[in-house]
Amino acid sequence: TKFVYDFTEGNKDLKDLLGGKGANLAEMTNLGLPVPPGFTITTEACKVYLESGAEPVALRDEVSAHLDALEERMGKKLGQADNPLLVSVRSGAKFSMPGMMDTVLNIGLSDKSVQGLAKQAGDDRFAWDSYRRLIQMFGKTVMDVDGELFEEELEKAKRAKKVTVDTDLDAADLKKLVTRFKKIVKTEAGRDFPQDPREQMDLAIHAVFDSWNTDRAKLYRRQERIPGDLGTAVNVCSMVFGNLGPDSGTGVAFTRDPASGHQGVYGDYLQNAQGEDVVAGIRNTVPLAELESIDKKSYDQLMQIMETLENHYKDLCDIEFTIERGQLWMLQTRVGKRTAGAAFRIATQLVDQGLIDEAEALQRVTGAQLAQLMFPRFDDTAHGTKGIELLGRGIAASPGAAVGKAVFDSYTAIKWSRSGEKVILIRRETNPDDLDGMIAAEGILTSRGGKTSHAAVVARGMGKTCVCGAEELEVDTKRRRLTIGDIVVEEGDVVSIDGSTGKVYRGEVPVVPSPVVEYFEGRMHAGADDADELVGAVHRIMAYADRVRRLRVRANADNAEDALRARRFGAQGIGLCRTEHMFLGERREMVEKLILADTDTEREESLKQLLPLQKQDFIELFEAMDGLPVTVRLLDPPLHEFLPDITELSVRVALAESRQDSNENDLRLLQAVHRLHEQNPMLGLRGVRLGLVIPGLFAMQVRAIAEAAADRKNAKGDPRAEIMIPLVGTVQELEIVREEADRVVAEVEEQTGVELKLAIGTMIELPRAALTAGQIAEAAQFFSFGTNDLTQTVWGFSRDDVEASFFTAYLEKGIFGVSPFETIDKDGVGSLVKSAVEAGRATRPDLKLGVCGEHGGDPESVHFFHEVGLDYVSCSPFRIPVARLEAGRAAS
Ligand code: PEP
Ligand code: MG
Repeated sequence: TKFVYDFTEGNKDLKDLLGGKGANLAEMTNLGLPVPPGFTITTEACKVYLESGAEPVALRDEVSAHLDALEERMGKKLGQADNPLLVSVRSGAKFSMPGMMDTVLNIGLSDKSVQGLAKQAGDDRFAWDSYRRLIQMFGKTVMDVDGELFEEELEKAKRAKKVTVDTDLDAADLKKLVTRFKKIVKTEAGRDFPQDPREQMDLAIHAVFDSWNTDRAKLYRRQERIPGDLGTAVNVCSMVFGNLGPDSGTGVAFTRDPASGHQGVYGDYLQNAQGEDVVAGIRNTVPLAELESIDKKSYDQLMQIMETLENHYKDLCDIEFTIERGQLWMLQTRVGKRTAGAAFRIATQLVDQGLIDEAEALQRVTGAQLAQLMFPRFDDTAHGTKGIELLGRGIAASPGAAVGKAVFDSYTAIKWSRSGEKVILIRRETNPDDLDGMIAAEGILTSRGGKTSHAAVVARGMGKTCVCGAEELEVDTKRRRLTIGDIVVEEGDVVSIDGSTGKVYRGEVPVVPSPVVEYFEGRMHAGADDADELVGAVHRIMAYADRVRRLRVRANADNAEDALRARRFGAQGIGLCRTEHMFLGERREMVEKLILADTDTEREESLKQLLPLQKQDFIELFEAMDGLPVTVRLLDPPLHEFLPDITELSVRVALAESRQDSNENDLRLLQAVHRLHEQNPMLGLRGVRLGLVIPGLFAMQVRAIAEAAADRKNAKGDPRAEIMIPLVGTVQELEIVREEADRVVAEVEEQTGVELKLAIGTMIELPRAALTAGQIAEAAQFFSFGTNDLTQTVWGFSRDDVEASFFTAYLEKGIFGVSPFETIDKDGVGSLVKSAVEAGRATRPDLKLGVCGEHGGDPESVHFFHEVGLDYVSCSPFRIPVARLEAGRAAS
């Protein structure tokens, strides 16, 4: 294996091996751009080092050979006394981990070569300042010396001289400081600061390897879902200096505005400084455009290079550069991060510029970005308005814009929300006891924990706005208040939290609907403003996606209003109408009567009452979805969900008995509740089992569907009803229900004289159904995978409990990176889906296949369903655009 690559040997596609920084430095070198020469040690070398505790044997010689070549090229030797070559040793993993790993600059300086540098640069102060920086950085990162000790010494030197900034220390001061720094190293590390330049370099390389496994790097990787075994590459690069005087400097630049996507001159420049000074914020930077008046030649060259880079990468690039005495050097570039809106704009702009085609444009945006653009957001123009104050910033954990009164415990959250108040639940961190409070709140704010903290995971699962880990905020739950500096937020004060940016405000920030939703709703007005430009870009990308996708997209909806919205959002039918949602409110009592019925007459009576109501529901739904398929699922949930709570009822009955006025009805009810009470209701009397046990229930629902369809046909409509049987485990169950359904449909056809052609199919929600899909397809005209229940039953995870109980621990331990209820578990649940698809189609080649679990609207899962050959995905109305986009991305 080759462990070291010269910058001239790599290219941008070697990120696995050379890391992002190394691969792009090589790419720029080969484009002929001014990159300071150097070489990259591969991630493979790092992996060997981390696994075995020692660098690969061959590494030393390879590094020597590359160093020789570098010295030859530069005409000076590393650390040479009279004319030293200095290098930086920088980390650079495949994925950017900003600030997480180590870097050491000015390697090669020693007591001797510092003199040589002074001569080279013609600047004593500069040389001694560089040397003290090396000892400080090297001492801290390589020799594990507490960085504070150096800082204190530096402060002391400034105090002694009665100055406040580093630049007021002269060469003699810095020389003294070097002596003190060396003493610190000796005392703290128990050895002298190494004078041998090669030893400095080797130790720095090892330190960079080791920094892959620091706690903060590990935490960052876990939060960003970066695998822990990739390792980092190490870039050894000849030093250039931006701090050699006013004709030197350093800066960052973007080829486009990463916030809007607009082309122009974006970036910052700091004269007479090194990169570290910019990060440290020691002096204020100036806008990049001002470089033109500072150093026109370098500015023009930089603009030229930015154009070259954009045309080459065909994307927005960000850049770090340094100017050393009027000579421009490129230190880094990469395809830059951008906001969701900019991603859509840039993709279409690049198509217009002829740089990429439409298929590529689709790959430049994601469903997650589209989802982000669909959340309502805070009105930017409200900043600075009276009464609104930015308190701080945390981690944007679950998007959305939430406003409410501050509460500091779940009990208050529930109490206040019951009385109609909007509340924001503020906790140091949340735990499973807070679940009800989180549900009651508009949004959740915590001062601790990252993207995988309990609050973040649960909030995302509930689609609730969440900002977590806002560490500047001092949360005092005992005194029910939040402090930041001298600002105090008391219980009841209004706060606003932005789950897309992590910003936290005091006061009510006005919320505006997303222009992208206004567009999907057909309410977006014309007018050449910024929002229109975004909408134009979304419109075009959606059009590409719709053109190329194979998957159809349907909605989970059970009323006309949702159905109409779904249609506006592009739904091509309803994939799941949950009929239990039609029995809520006043109708619950009718179902209660049905359950309590002792005699056939009583039962038939309540079914007769329900029938016209159901029929009317379906008429409205079929009308809203005229011409498109509507899959109606027969009643699914455990019956006790329609009965009163067992504890509450028991208490009521006991109280009544003690007052000796017990009522007959309550007693009967209590008996029924006891009879129907189940330890595991999700595995109990529900789904098709209900239809088989309660005579007439499914028949009533089928009749309502059939009569509604007949009515719509008579009204010249085009109803396309499909009847779906839930929770089937064996073909026998389905056969019995089908026989009855076919009979009822035939009766309705006979009575109305209308030919109906209603398809009857089943959900695949149980492992047994998936495993016997070939048999089940004999009796089903379609399958719809109920991946919520299928995940529950394949994993044995209670879908109602686990996310709030132990999933946080599972996520933290990396057992899975994302809940299997959110993204389909391809290896387990997914492989059952795949084999059921194959077995079903083998029995019935024209079997229609879809999915209606939550996964139908999840980007990664949509790609999986495309791959296994489903015909459609069905998801909640709001996620339809995301599913359309991802189906397009999957197909292109
Ligand atoms: C499912 O189980 O995936 C499904 C869609 O049905 P429900 O969520 O109603 O149980
Ligand atoms: Mg289900």
